[in-house]
Amino acid sequence: MNLQNIYKENGIDANVYNYCKDIEESLKDRFDEIDEIAQYNQMKVIHAMQKEKVSDIHFASSSGYGYNDLGRDTLEKVYASVFHTEAALVRAQIVCGTHALAVALSSNLRPGDEMISISGKPYDTLEEVIGIRPSKGSLMEYGVTYKQVELLEDGSFDKEGIRSAISPATKLVAIQRSKGYLTRKTLSVEEIGDAIKYVKSINKDIIVMVDNCYGEFVETIEPSDVGADMTVGSLIKNPGGGLAPIGGYIVGTKECIENAAYRLTSPGLGQEVGANLGVVQSFFQGLFLAPNVVAGALKGAIFAANIYEKLGYKVIPDSKEPRYDIIQAVEFGTPEGLIAFCEGIQAAAPVDSYVTPEPWDMPGYDSQVIMAAGAFVQGSSIELSADGPLKEPYAAYFQGGLTWNHARYGIMMSLQKLVNAGIVKLK
Ligand SMILES: *Cc1c(COP(=O)(O)O)cnc(C)c1O
Repeated sequence: MNLQNIYKENGIDANVYNYCKDIEESLKDRFDEIDEIAQYNQMKVIHAMQKEKVSDIHFASSSGYGYNDLGRDTLEKVYASVFHTEAALVRAQIVCGTHALAVALSSNLRPGDEMISISGKPYDTLEEVIGIRPSKGSLMEYGVTYKQVELLEDGSFDKEGIRSAISPATKLVAIQRSKGYLTRKTLSVEEIGDAIKYVKSINKDIIVMVDNCYGEFVETIEPSDVGADMTVGSLIKNPGGGLAPIGGYIVGTKECIENAAYRLTSPGLGQEVGANLGVVQSFFQGLFLAPNVVAGALKGAIFAANIYEKLGYKVIPDSKEPRYDIIQAVEFGTPEGLIAFCEGIQAAAPVDSYVTPEPWDMPGYDSQVIMAAGAFVQGSSIELSADGPLKEPYAAYFQGGLTWNHARYGIMMSLQKLVNAGIVKLK
């Protein structure tokens, strides 16, 4: 078998192939650790499915009101078991991660309540949910007030700041695990657990919600294992395993989840309605695959960090840092570098590989943005995807990869495009 030949046939020159293969060799120990975490999480998921006696009757589609939808109800028990929570809400009717977070917040807050984000500025889309940027239907419009405590310089929680921010009106504290597209560190589950303990020591009745997007299955524990009352995420990211075509989840205490269900559907109806419309099998199967998919995405992120750091680019996280989410940033310093990188990711995709991504004026951004995605599910960012704003420092953010073999090829192709454009010279 000649691997180098099949890569050659797919557009990767020998010098790029060899450069990348040497780096891959050097990462063996790191990849072994990732495989071990995937092994642990795979066992956790299988255990949950066995415990809930998942069977092919649970894969049936339901329509209309969706009363007595066994598949949906069992899936929610499986999620509760995986996350070690009393209850779970996992629905196709939760249309994305932002929606899941909006439901979790708006269902557990009442007029006059205060919410505090203790991990600094939340993800962009939440600014409108909360009302930081005025928006129709925001929590602010319903009389919920908001405060924010920044993380300290070193990326850790500001305990004094948290203590002085908490007031008798504080009903809910929000923590975001992943840095998203900010430059801060991603928080480990252990650090999150420490912060939750601290908040509860001030007032045990405060609800702590964790935005878990991009973090699921990166470690062997989740925020729900360290005291979060609600842990929230999107099914077109990690836990959908690339198969879920839509959806979001909220796992947590019985009371928080009941509130969320009454808000998602309607007071009085709650969790009892909501047809699965045939997607429930993909939710089960995606969850089953998720630990392995996340491991592949993590290997891709570390592989890229090592390649581009060695070539002299700033990479965040760096080549050696521990990982708590699947996002990787590479600063190219020039528009040409960022564009070539995205072209490579696109050219290596199983879908839409023949199109060339172009920078465009995306609504809401103050500069042009370039995006590369050749995905089976629109906008899915557990599939290999990259984007970046055309402004200093010309950073590409990329994540995902349904298989490590595809992530590897995508990254090799990105380097090939940089070489072809004369931006990178390999010896
Ligand atoms: C993706 C993401 C969201 C929002 O999810 P959408 O599905 O894009 O609405 C919220 N928070 C974080 C940290 C995310 O990464």
